[in-house]
Amino acid sequence: MNDRVKELATLLRSGAKMLSEACPICGTPLFEKSGKIWCPTCKREVIRVPGHSMMQLGEIETLLELKKLMFDKIRSLMNDLLASTDLGTVTHITEAIRLQLDTLQKVLDLNRQIMGEKCKTS
Ligand SMILES: [Zn+2]
Repeated sequence: MNDRVKELATLLRSGAKMLSEACPICGTPLFEKSGKIWCPTCKREVIRVPGHSMMQLGEIETLLELKKLMFDKIRSLMNDLLASTDLGTVTHITEAIRLQLDTLQKVLDLNRQIMGEKCKTS
């Protein structure tokens, strides 16, 4: 028996339940114990996000960083926009802002779903 199989067996013996969903990062079947979902390979907690199946907590941190980055980027683009007079440049920057806003919208939607899910489970 290799270490991974041994660890899965230990998890099952401890009362953890194997789920039909797999880890979004490594594809290992996930386990649920005391209301927490766990990937035994990544050794990380995973949460269920409606419409996005499973996410690791680390991914959620990335999402929060991304949100901050988007706001910073939009702010800096706004300054560029204020400083430019050339129509081509203005069009270019406006398009860039639109793209940033689209991405930001997606990040915020995802965030809201995750936070909603966290409220429900805790
Ligand atoms: Zn994993």
